[in-house]
Amino acid sequence: MANSYVPTIELNDGHHIPQLGFGVFLVDPEQTERIVSDALEAGYRHIDTAAIYGNEEGVGRAIAKSGIPRDELFVTTKLWNDAQGTQSAFDAIDSSLEKLGLDNVDLYLIHWPTPERDLYAETWRALEQIKADGKARSIGVSNFLKSHLERIMAESDTVPAVDQIELHPALQSRELTSFARSVGTQIEAWGPLGQGKYPLFEEQSVVSAAEAHGKSPAQVVIRWHLQHGNIVFPKSNRAERMAENFDVLDFTLTESEMAGIDALERDGRVGTHPNEFN
Ligand code: NAD
Repeated sequence: MANSYVPTIELNDGHHIPQLGFGVFLVDPEQTERIVSDALEAGYRHIDTAAIYGNEEGVGRAIAKSGIPRDELFVTTKLWNDAQGTQSAFDAIDSSLEKLGLDNVDLYLIHWPTPERDLYAETWRALEQIKADGKARSIGVSNFLKSHLERIMAESDTVPAVDQIELHPALQSRELTSFARSVGTQIEAWGPLGQGKYPLFEEQSVVSAAEAHGKSPAQVVIRWHLQHGNIVFPKSNRAERMAENFDVLDFTLTESEMAGIDALERDGRVGTHPNEFN
């Protein structure tokens, strides 16, 4: 099976996550079942969705239809901002599981800290209970900065398994990623291709590595993430690009190619700053 070649990363609770998956942000709910079916067909076994994407039902239908054994799949969803708080978090996971048609998710994340609401530490303790109840095998956070991570670690017994943050060659957040890794939190890179908003695919260091390996610029950027140890789930609605983005396991960027792409850092955030999203 194609997936047997995808490396996995061990999380701090002993579970393993496939390092390469498929994300469904902005995937039309009407088309999600088909698109996720195509992704499963292409070999992806790790799907990243969220309550706010409105497409958990389509993800669930594609999984059910695929006949792939549940234990060969890794499914992540996320708690939206309006569900922060204890009881609302318990209700939110139940609602997501019902839509997905699953007994549990592999990973459940707080989507944004929304610091002005000041509910993320309480919500994190609710996620500890959700894990204890078996509704999520692993729990983590998304868009958390160092200060948010420090606070939840001080106010709970659980270090997040992952922090899913915006990360691509133009925004590498090196201080945050090295802090997270130092406490045992793995980094998931959202917008791994810069959401198409930076001309990453035209950068000389990306283009020349692509030519050297007979790969596309997108494949080189995905490979750069994998070699940095990031967990990635690039999104595409198109089956040929799904296959292209999955075909990144048979080449290795050299140290100097990696350094050339590292040099594209320019604090180039395409999404909202986590402290400003409330
Ligand atoms: P991405 O960087 O994966 O970019 C996706 C876009 O890149 C596509 O729409 C397409 O236009 C282009 N693309 C994809 N493959 C290509 C290829 N081979 N060649 C050329 N262009 C290509 O951005 P994303 O979808 O925002 O991020 C990936 C996933 O991360 C999402 O689907 C979602 O699961 C997750 N995410 C999470 C958050 C969060 O706040 N936690 C925010 C955004 C995204």
